[in-house]
Amino acid sequence: MLTSRLPHRVEPYRLAARSESLAGLMALEDFERLAEQVGRQAGDCRVWLGFGVDAQGRREIRGRLEAELQLPCRRCLEPLAQHVESEFLLGMVTSDALAAELPSTHEPVLVENEQLNLLAVVEDELILSLPQVVYHDEAQCGVSRDQLSSGEEAESTEPTRVSPFEVLRRLKGKP
Ligand SMILES: [Zn+2]
Repeated sequence: MLTSRLPHRVEPYRLAARSESLAGLMALEDFERLAEQVGRQAGDCRVWLGFGVDAQGRREIRGRLEAELQLPCRRCLEPLAQHVESEFLLGMVTSDALAAELPSTHEPVLVENEQLNLLAVVEDELILSLPQVVYHDEAQCGVSRDQLSSGEEAESTEPTRVSPFEVLRRLKGKP
């Protein structure tokens, strides 16, 4: 179990030269851009990072993250618990021009004055791993499908049950 907190900045070249690994937590409340997209989050993101130098001499970071987020349901906008995880391969570059030379397998991360903004890197990866849309199960959702399709008049109507024989008839009727 991870208990230590990761620093917001690291010296990635030094870590890569020593093939070091970092594992720890980052507070979700520190991710401002994530909050703008899906609302304030509580709890921690779990992060594993392996720094190294590959056969071509590229300094890289192999990473993995996991978090439990509360994402707004697309129908009723109430939060919905979602497990999010992702794996990523990053290539360190010192300028945008060098980023173009990285193979497509690597996402570039900018290292300035030997420093890497780890907070921003992990936040980027977390945002990339967000599901496109999330919905409650219909039973849990504040807005039923009937309400969405026909407005408030549908509120009082019971869902009509279709008999299995009726379903079978429809299937057989198809070309
Ligand atoms: Zn909902």
